[in-house]
Amino acid sequence: MSSSTISKKIQTQHAELKRDLERYSRAYYLDDKPLVSDAEFDRLFDSLLELEKKYPALVTADSPSQRIGAPPSSKFAKIKHRERMLSLQKVNTAEDFEEFDRRVREGLYDKEEAQSKTIEYVIEPKLDGLAVELVYENGVLSVGSTRGDGVTGEEITANLKTIQSIPLRLSEPTSKRWPMIEVRGEVYMPLAQFKVMNAKLQESGASVMANPRNGAAGSLRQLDSRITASRPLRFFAYSAHCPDVSFSEEFKTQFHTLEFLRKEAFPINPLSTVCVGVNSVAKEFEALTKKRTSLDYEIDGLVIKVNQFSEQIKLGVIARAPRWAVAWKFAAEEAETVVEDVIFSVGRTGVITPVASLKPVRVSGVIVSNASLHNEDEIKGLDLRIGDHVIIRRAGDVIPDVREVVFDKRDGSEKKVTFPKKCPSCGEKLLRAEGEAAYKCSNSLCPAQLVARVYHFGSKSGFDIDGFGEKLARQLVERELIRTPADLFFLDKETVLELDLMADKRATNLLSAIEKAKATPLPQALYALGIPGIGETSAVALADSFGSLDGISAADVEELVAIDGIGPLLAQSLVEFFADEKNLAMIARLKEAGLKFPHVQNPGTSDGALSGLTFVITGTLTKPRGEFKKLIEQNSGKVASALSSKTDYLLAGEKAGSKLKKAEKLSVAVIDEDELNSLIQGAAK
Ligand code: NAD
Repeated sequence: MSSSTISKKIQTQHAELKRDLERYSRAYYLDDKPLVSDAEFDRLFDSLLELEKKYPALVTADSPSQRIGAPPSSKFAKIKHRERMLSLQKVNTAEDFEEFDRRVREGLYDKEEAQSKTIEYVIEPKLDGLAVELVYENGVLSVGSTRGDGVTGEEITANLKTIQSIPLRLSEPTSKRWPMIEVRGEVYMPLAQFKVMNAKLQESGASVMANPRNGAAGSLRQLDSRITASRPLRFFAYSAHCPDVSFSEEFKTQFHTLEFLRKEAFPINPLSTVCVGVNSVAKEFEALTKKRTSLDYEIDGLVIKVNQFSEQIKLGVIARAPRWAVAWKFAAEEAETVVEDVIFSVGRTGVITPVASLKPVRVSGVIVSNASLHNEDEIKGLDLRIGDHVIIRRAGDVIPDVREVVFDKRDGSEKKVTFPKKCPSCGEKLLRAEGEAAYKCSNSLCPAQLVARVYHFGSKSGFDIDGFGEKLARQLVERELIRTPADLFFLDKETVLELDLMADKRATNLLSAIEKAKATPLPQALYALGIPGIGETSAVALADSFGSLDGISAADVEELVAIDGIGPLLAQSLVEFFADEKNLAMIARLKEAGLKFPHVQNPGTSDGALSGLTFVITGTLTKPRGEFKKLIEQNSGKVASALSSKTDYLLAGEKAGSKLKKAEKLSVAVIDEDELNSLIQGAAK
């Protein structure tokens, strides 16, 4: 089919896609200011590929499907790459990757033989930064450039030299043997530094960086290298090229090349490894998907490369990407959608959280229709309006947040968000405490707060009542079937059957789950009570130290701070919680319902040589403090962070400072390491 026989509608659709993708590419590659999210760009790019697959006559040399990146900016000198810097083919699923693997096998062997062959791949994280090339002549870094359009890049040598992790020289034997080597890799900005950098930019009134990738690219593509030097940039190398064939004869595989680069002091990503066959690659993909959020830099997938160079050469390249490598991208965690409204939700402590109601959109396989806007400052910082197109981001299982507004798509119909002055549930005036970002409703009888408290009480992180959710909590409160969270434990079948969609079986199940929850152990119950600042670890520490809810509620600040992990603020919060009549009434009601808050001490914590003794550690000891803490706990002792009259011993090393004086004042015995060992051996002095 020639292009003249393709319908006008399809031709227009193709032209529009080309125009949009070109505009977005220029903004992304040349201005380092993306106009749309990567997910949105990829979606449009996939539509273009699909259209061109169906109508091959639409493919012209200027189509974004045939081009790499964008031509170099005229503000830099141009550098022609000796070997083209390519793009990568992409896959999104295990099936797509199997299909890629099949193409690789069939590219190397005849069809029948290919079936029984297994390919060796090197997998590397797909770093979300900027690709650069470093040319070393006679061992010295002589030229550094960006990828540009793959053929010609921008010369940014001075800027690259400011990055500490890029070696300026190669070793002498290497430079003698190979007078010209090109090293390629990714320049990136670590996440933590990106956040700090953005906070500084915001403070100084400068425009902030959209994401770490654009932060890295924008920082590197500066005309003044002093600006680049002030930016927190890092580098990972992932390939080396040399015109001399002896180089590839020596390093026959991608993995050996990475080893060579490591020896030459280039940073190599520690997650790079060899995988044999599709299953092994798929397992690594899964592992990396889990690891992704714990990395301190952004990655957007896995790059999988055929390991043997001889096989890479045989496979060759297609228009803009090699046949021997592929990027397996993570499911999009970002998506673009529209803010239909902003609602204000009231939390269990009265904090008002603005939530964006979104036009439903799929992110990482989940349909999302709400995103947290955190607080008023966040809305102002984003300059978000109702009707705006926004990029939302979902990390792990948490409620997504709005990453940025797509200002380019504003048409003037968007409405400003007005933060309410009164609680949307009870009408109480909202207050914002000095230095705090959140507005609060201080009416303890506020129905929305009660719904949130009841929900927390019954939820997984509370008393874990199976089958209990927010809808039930809302109905129970709105129909005035309960007045406090503790009333949950007094529900009877007749009342439960009044709830919507509650048939006999469901009611019986709910009541037996409530009955079961009465046996909730002390640490979890403490957490469920919603004491400000108490998390799961501190709840266990409290339960272990006092053994009962009554013991904890009777403790004073001094006794509480003597527990490791409980600081003065938390201690104060506990004391205030147990001094509040309403909380005491709730605990009394829970006891009335039959809750006993059982606690089983950690086995082995009550029969060691140091059982019942509390220690504080100070000064410089012969081993790290953590080791002494472990030793004391292994022998059933407790370690506290602060001295109090309840402390039995201060284990003091050299340069023990102010704690020695305090111990003297409180008449706490001071011991050294030898004396601690004697105590453990039962020979206490
Ligand atoms: P690509 O996805 O085709 O992959 C090639 C690039 O991957 C290399 O240039 C290199 O920078 C990088 N890379 C990271 N780790 C690597 C490794 N271990 N080995 C080899 N390469 C590695 O890159 P591209 O051609 O720039 O792709 C375009 C992508 O950029 C799109 O998928 C899109 O997400 C994004 N983009 C976004 C916009 C936007 O407006 N948001 C515009 C243009 C492009």
